[in-house]
Formats: sequence, C-alpha cells, structure tokens
Amino acid sequence: MREVREDAGEGVPLAEAEIVVSAGRGMKGPEHWGPVEELAAILGAATACSRPVSDIGWRPHHEHVGQTGLTVRPNLYIAIGISGAIQHLAGVNGSKTIVVINKDPEAPFFKAADYGIVGDAFEILPRVIAGAKAFAASR
Ligand SMILES: Cc1cc2nc3c(=O)[nH]c(=O)nc-3n(C[C@H](O)[C@H](O)[C@H](O)COP(=O)(O)OP(=O)(O)OC[C@H]3O[C@@H](n4cnc5c(N)ncnc54)[C@H](O)[C@@H]3O)c2cc1C
Repeated sequence: MREVREDAGEGVPLAEAEIVVSAGRGMKGPEHWGPVEELAAILGAATACSRPVSDIGWRPHHEHVGQTGLTVRPNLYIAIGISGAIQHLAGVNGSKTIVVINKDPEAPFFKAADYGIVGDAFEILPRVIAGAKAFAASR
C-alpha cells in the first residue's frame, strides 16, 4: 500500500507540525506569500491557509485548514490576515498558543488569540521575520 502524506511543499507536514504559519485573504495575492514562507522556514513551521485562499488557487488545497479542511493542533498557530470565521476556527482552536496579525482590531480571530498584533501584515511581517532571524542567530 502506498503512503500518502499531506506534505506542505518542501517543508514540514502540516498535520504533524508543532508550529504553523497560516495566512488568509488579507495577503491580497499569491505573489505576497514570500514572507509567510520565509517566516515558516525560520521557525521550522508548516504553512497553512484559509479556505478562500485555496479556493481561489493562491495556495494548494492541502494547506486549507478549518471545518472543511485539515484540523491542526500545533503548539503555535500564527494567523496572518485571516478574519477568524467560525469555520476556520473549527480547524485550529485546539492549538496551544494562537498569535493573530490583523489590521482590523474587530477581527473575530482576536477573541480566540493568546497574542494579537493589530496592524498591516505588510509592515508587521518583515519585523517579525527580523526578530525571528535574530533569535535564531543567537541560539
Ligand atoms: C460551509 C462552510 C464551510 C467553510 N469552511 C471553511 C474552512 O474549512 N476554512 C476556512 O478558512 N474557511 C471556511 N469557510 C469560509 C469562512 O466562513 C470564511 O469566509 C473564511 O475563513 C474567510 O477567509 P479569510 O479570513 O482568509 O478572508 P476574509 O474574511 O476576507 O478576511 C481577511 C482578513 O484579513 C484582514 N486583512 C486585510 N488586509 C490586511 C493586511 N494588510 N494586514 C493584516 N490583515 C489584513 C482583514 O481585516 C480580514 O480580517 C467556510 C464557509 C462555509 C459557509
């Protein structure tokens, strides 16, 4: 029998990942996923996405988490530009720690977040990446 793995590209398999970096429609287009992938690579994380993102074809379907996608329970789930609709939360609310980056302070995801950053992902992500790189270099 052939084993089929839900592998997140070249990186860590999403279903087994201890850290997941996930992004949604707030990223505006597939051409903006570079920083999402870079942060995931620094953290040794898998990448994931919201359903509309995979429906539009910005990301592969195996990255879609939520009610109709994969359920994940990582130690750390970082949600970037994802509103936090109940159908998305259904697949991620077993995560130990949830960090949300969203420019809308009223985004529902903040209610489920352990840590939240209100701001434009295009400004916040480079700073998070710089911090993660500095931390990785210091170890
Ligand atoms: C039956 C059913 C099943 C579903 N199953 C799923 C499922 O399994 N998984 C799933 O994810 N969805 C599912 N959905 C869809 C779900 O209801 C939401 O529509 C979807 O999760 C929204 O995706 P999103 O947050 O990426 O996009 P949006 O709702 O468009 O939210 C984008 C977010 O990005 C923020 N944003 C915009 N620009 C920026 C910026 N520059 N910086 C930071 N933040 C920014 C906005 O403030 C907003 O909160 C399902 C729906 C139905 C009806």
